[in-house]
Amino acid sequence: ASAIQAATRKAREAEQLKNTFIANMSHEIRTPLNAIVGFSNLMIVTGDLEIRQEMIHHIEENNEILLRLVNDIIDLSKIESGSMTFAYSLTDVNALLQDVATIYQIKANQKKLQFSCECPQKELYILTDKIRLKQLMTNFLTNALKFTKQGSIRLGYRLDQDRMTLYVSDTGIGIPETQRQSIFKRFYRANKTAQGYGLGLSISQAIVEGLNGEISVESEEGRGSTFRAIFPVKKAKPVTSPSAVNFSTFSD
Ligand code: ADP
Repeated sequence: ASAIQAATRKAREAEQLKNTFIANMSHEIRTPLNAIVGFSNLMIVTGDLEIRQEMIHHIEENNEILLRLVNDIIDLSKIESGSMTFAYSLTDVNALLQDVATIYQIKANQKKLQFSCECPQKELYILTDKIRLKQLMTNFLTNALKFTKQGSIRLGYRLDQDRMTLYVSDTGIGIPETQRQSIFKRFYRANKTAQGYGLGLSISQAIVEGLNGEISVESEEGRGSTFRAIFPVKKAKPVTSPSAVNFSTFSD
């Protein structure tokens, strides 16, 4: 009888989790959607160009929030069903970081924050999923920007033989020790004053684990945080041949 009781309890807990998830999602989707619908309706009856411009800005902002949320939900369901796939291809790590840095340099400067991108190797090509890696850096950097009022943000990597550490460091509000593990759980937010759903880090963790790596955080309250992802990497070399420009050979 106790086995049946335990199984029943487990099923109830799963049901409860799912219900909470759906309730959360419905609420989170409704908020930006209401803003988009509301401002769109207002625009129809507003003639003033300046006010319209402001409304367009709000609509754009909420479009972005909604799009990110929907993408995150899709990723979350992929994680849940174990179908998050990784497409490995030859990746120029320096170019990838520079790419991301260009965008965040602008965003950081808008907030009067310093931004630096640290690529210690003159050249580094690895086999990885560059889209997922970009998503990971974007998640880290979005948080760093969100939780840093002054100082600096650093994006970079380190290479130790066959391990690469990707990091984002900030001089922001930091994370209390009691919450440092919980922030990787879905929907968990340590600081509820900023915009967010608490999904970014749980997706980031799944990405890092999918790439056989480990995610970690080091932080001091009031001083800042550093998020790291450590991966095993195999260096690769770009090969140029008359027929194919972008296939690879390995160098150990
Ligand atoms: P969110 O969309 O809420 O930022 P995340 O999963 O990315 O979701 O982060 C979860 C929580 O972890 C955040 O709500 C915040 O409290 C904390 N956090 C994440 N990154 C940082 C950071 N760089 N500095 C301070 N707190 C952070």
